[in-house]
Amino acid sequence: MSRPYGEQHRSGRAGWLRAAVLGSDDAIVSTASLMIGVAASAASKESILVAGVAGLVAGAMSMAVGEYVSVSSQRDAEQADVELEKRELAGEPQAELNELAMIYVRRGVERELATKVAEQLSAHDRLGAHMRDELGIDPASFARPLQAAWISAASFASFGTVPIATLLVAPAAWRIPAIAALSLMSLAALGAFGGRLGGAPLGRAALRVTAGGALAMTVTAAIGRIFGVALN
Ligand SMILES: [Zn+2]
Repeated sequence: MSRPYGEQHRSGRAGWLRAAVLGSDDAIVSTASLMIGVAASAASKESILVAGVAGLVAGAMSMAVGEYVSVSSQRDAEQADVELEKRELAGEPQAELNELAMIYVRRGVERELATKVAEQLSAHDRLGAHMRDELGIDPASFARPLQAAWISAASFASFGTVPIATLLVAPAAWRIPAIAALSLMSLAALGAFGGRLGGAPLGRAALRVTAGGALAMTVTAAIGRIFGVALN
């Protein structure tokens, strides 16, 4: 990761980082819960494995589609805003210049200086200045639907293998606790990692995702057990 100015900027990679963390957390929580639920019904190792693999494939696909749709609509909204702004800039350049200056005045810049800043920024990159300061869109970080889709699917597929690999190596009697323990440890590590990259407090980020995962596994284990008793 490059740090051209010595200062660590965090928001620039927010888009893909968000997709990766979301995909990884979701993969562990949903695949582990699914497998624990099936295991709690006293199913065979083979059945648990099939459930885990099917859950991993289905989850990765659904994650990709979901991210694609959500990030696409975000991008559509950004593009519509930019198109509207272009028309306004072409139609009423003076009003737009005043509007930009007023944005800086509201942020605490003196009127005269604000006008100068607005003029110079407009001379340099008029649309860019309006996008950043009026619309809050960074032209360098437009939403990227395809990138979000494949990153979340790849993260999901990678981390969904944690509970599956645990199933393959754990002794039969330890299946459920082993899957739960390894999955929760991975969640804690991911939470801390995500918190670190995002500049958030580590403990809080790790605790949030681990508690959520533990709750999901407990609920599916209970439901799997009830169904297992009822069906057998
Ligand atoms: Zn404007």
